[in-house]
Amino acid sequence: MDETLLKEELGQLVYRLGGDLFGIASFDDVADKIAEEYGDTYHDLDRAVSVAVFFPKAVINELAQGPTHTYLNYYDAINTRLDDIALRMSNFLQKKGYKTFPIPASQRVNESKLAGIFSHRLAAHRAGLGWIGKSCSLIHPEVGPRLRLVTVLTNAPLPPDKPFPENKCGACTLCQDACPPKAIKGIHHRVEDPLEVRLDAQACHDYLAKVRHSFGKRICGRCLAACPWGK
Ligand code: SF4
Ligand code: SF4
Repeated sequence: MDETLLKEELGQLVYRLGGDLFGIASFDDVADKIAEEYGDTYHDLDRAVSVAVFFPKAVINELAQGPTHTYLNYYDAINTRLDDIALRMSNFLQKKGYKTFPIPASQRVNESKLAGIFSHRLAAHRAGLGWIGKSCSLIHPEVGPRLRLVTVLTNAPLPPDKPFPENKCGACTLCQDACPPKAIKGIHHRVEDPLEVRLDAQACHDYLAKVRHSFGKRICGRCLAACPWGK
């Protein structure tokens, strides 16, 4: 099948199912870095389909005052939609004979590093959806970090998009200033740096555990609410 047509059909599927952004990442030029970070499991899957669903902006902005049940509700609703989109993309590609590995929208395999099995943000950045901010979230020019992501790794020869060309954080420190345990270090993202260069994930993890004690759930998101992009 024509590769451009395959990408077009996949994009149509995503938008029909309620995805807001769609892009294809290639890891060809960072294959060694990916292998170092994630091992050999995905080495023959050299494309990532990245999809975003937007939060209502007001729901994130409210987190500046503290955790809310409204956020929790939409967090779950958006993750369910993203996982459904990923599953259907995965099956669409699999039926055409390609290998796929859908990465769950919200799955932690390393709690103290706040990390899943593969970085949705890295895939989204490489697919041109936005840049990785000092908060370590993906920042899109229109909605900032008020979105969630899912990724399907595949060996389908989908024409890749270009990585987002610019990091627009500049001298801003709003997420760093808003972070209660001072977990954000204010460092610009570089693909060659491990997460700990930019984020004290243990401090964020411990703070979320404290919030669970008082609020009943692990929620913060003050760094998301503080970001001026898309506010
Ligand atoms: S979620 Fe809260 S504690 Fe964690 S980095 Fe963002 S502001 Fe800091
Ligand atoms: S709040 Fe400022 S520094 Fe933090 S991610 Fe947004 S633009 Fe970048």
